[in-house]
Amino acid sequence: MAKSPATPKGLKRFKYPPEPARVEAIFTRFEAMEPEPRTELKFRDPYTLVTAVALSAQATDVSVNKATDRLFEVADTPQKMLALGEEGLIPYIASIGLFRTKAKNVIAAARILVEQYGGVVPLERDKLQALPGVGRKTASVVLNELGVEPAIAVDTHVFRVSHRLGLSNAPTPDKVEAQLFKVVPPKWLTRAHHWLILHGRYTCVAQRPRCENCVVAEWCPSREFYLQAAAAAREGKKPAKR
Ligand code: SF4
Repeated sequence: MAKSPATPKGLKRFKYPPEPARVEAIFTRFEAMEPEPRTELKFRDPYTLVTAVALSAQATDVSVNKATDRLFEVADTPQKMLALGEEGLIPYIASIGLFRTKAKNVIAAARILVEQYGGVVPLERDKLQALPGVGRKTASVVLNELGVEPAIAVDTHVFRVSHRLGLSNAPTPDKVEAQLFKVVPPKWLTRAHHWLILHGRYTCVAQRPRCENCVVAEWCPSREFYLQAAAAAREGKKPAKR
């Protein structure tokens, strides 16, 4: 998962809450384009999912998949991970950022799972969040992905897209999550996280969002600004101030 957003400098704040009809139109379009969005992290079961999500903090899903393709061949259970140990684990994840801390946490979490939970991942938020290296965001991704509890983990993509689409105007990830929960209709809650992440990853990218190819452009209050900025950039002019 991409890293958490920094202070939202430069992001325009739209009024909140957004118009329900606009929210409806946006998510109807997302659903039409991708009815069953899934995480791009590869996993086999709750344990490999928790591990992959924990490893993905401040790293791309592609880099994590590359590492876990090999890692899960030798350690796909807490017992095997514990047997592998920190030094044994490091070579598998050394290409991922913060790998030493992550190795420590993965082994500590495996130990707790083996000693306290019989090697089974507890799918309860409190217990999950208490595992080393598993914070609120990781627990949200896991519980949402496994269909246990709808959650919208707010990473840098979700944060940016929510602001640009005028779905939230909150200054922190937790507050954005709370606002999204209030405005996204329940039928879309489990999938909203994926749609917003994928949209931010491939279309509404941080620099030069691809508004001309955006499937929800007609309901986006930021569209004109970014189209004008792109046109100004092409002509070598300074973009207009917001
Ligand atoms: S129109 Fe542009 S700014 Fe708005 S959501 Fe689409 S890509 Fe992002």
